[in-house]
This record gives sequence, structure tokens and C-alpha cells, in this order.
Amino acid sequence: MKKKYRMIHDENLCIGCQACSVACRSENKVPDDLFRLQVRVKTEGVFPDLRMDMKRHSCVMCEDTPCVTVCPTGASFKTEDGLVQVDPKLCVSCKYCIVACPYEARFINPVTKNADKCTFCYSNRVSKGQDPACVTVCPTDALVFGDINDTTSEVYKKAKESTLVYPKAHLGTKPKLAFVPNKKGVSYE
Ligand code: SF4
Ligand code: SF4
Repeated sequence: MKKKYRMIHDENLCIGCQACSVACRSENKVPDDLFRLQVRVKTEGVFPDLRMDMKRHSCVMCEDTPCVTVCPTGASFKTEDGLVQVDPKLCVSCKYCIVACPYEARFINPVTKNADKCTFCYSNRVSKGQDPACVTVCPTDALVFGDINDTTSEVYKKAKESTLVYPKAHLGTKPKLAFVPNKKGVSYE
């Protein structure tokens, strides 16, 4: 059976340490000043009544993929497990996908000259049975990843016990990245 991968970011557990972002940068050789993954911290209020909210910003792995639809060469594609990737041999750097992505998740990598983004570490880790680098290093288990068809998986259990929110769900892109909203924090897109 095909895997049905999902990732969940629990904003109640996230402490904004950026370990995930650093691990992603190291694992995927992301150039300086660019990122595949960031956790954006928003603070509201006046000390000592401060509230903080942590939001993961990355590709959300759409099921209905604007980036794949507009790609003129087939460089942007979905694996058989439904994870969106970029084939560097086919990418012509036209930037159509960057414009089409409603999550501002893509950029041109100045080293490879190709469109780049979070891949859920598909080729380098997930296809070998490992978790994405960000999930592996998270010190608070705020990130959970796996096959949601597997009823013994952590991601299945997390989804079952949580109220999940999907980023920009109104667009109908059906993201595979979901959030557990921060109950104490502020809310923004
Ligand atoms: S978030 Fe953007 S780059 Fe990722 S699959 Fe969706 S449209 Fe493509
Ligand atoms: S590593 Fe975990 S706790 Fe740290 S910023 Fe990333 S998701 Fe949040």
C-alpha cells in the first residue's frame, strides 16, 4: 500500500529554538540567507503579559499542487507517495512555480540555479525509512511525521488526539502539513 505521509507541527510544544531550521540547512545544504524551513515567532502584549506564537513556514506538500500544474518541463512532480519534489535535471529556472505557490515556499537556489524548497527530505532520508531532519532534531517533539495509514504510527496517534488546522485550507490545496494551534498564543497566517 502507498504511504500517506503527513507532518504535524504542534505549536503548543514548539519553543522556537530553530533546531529544525538549522538541521534542514545542514542536511540539505541550503545556502546562507535562504531557507526551506523557518519557525516564525510572533510576540504580542507588554511584559510581563507577553504571548508568543510559533509558526512553521515551509512547503506544506499540497495534494492539489499549483507548482506542479504550472511547471512547463515536468521538473516539479509528485512521488508515488504524493510528496512534491523538484528534478534538477529538468528545471529551467523559469520561476513559474515560485509565482504559483500560495505559501511562498520556493526560491531559486543560487548554487544549483534550480527551484528549491522543503522536500520533507524525501530522497535523502524518507525514502530510506528515516524521518525528515527537522523531525529528528526537534527537542520537544513538536514535529511528528509518518504514514497516517499506519495506526501504530506517532503521526496517526497525534492526528487522532488533536484538532488539526491546515494552512490556507480555503484554497483547496489539501496540505499534508498540519498544525495544532497554540492555545495560549496569537493567531495569524
Ligand atoms: S506549498 Fe507551494 S511548493 Fe509546496 S506543494 Fe504547495 S504549491 Fe508546491
Ligand atoms: S526544532 Fe521543534 S521546538 Fe525547535 S523551532 Fe523547530 S519545531 Fe519548534
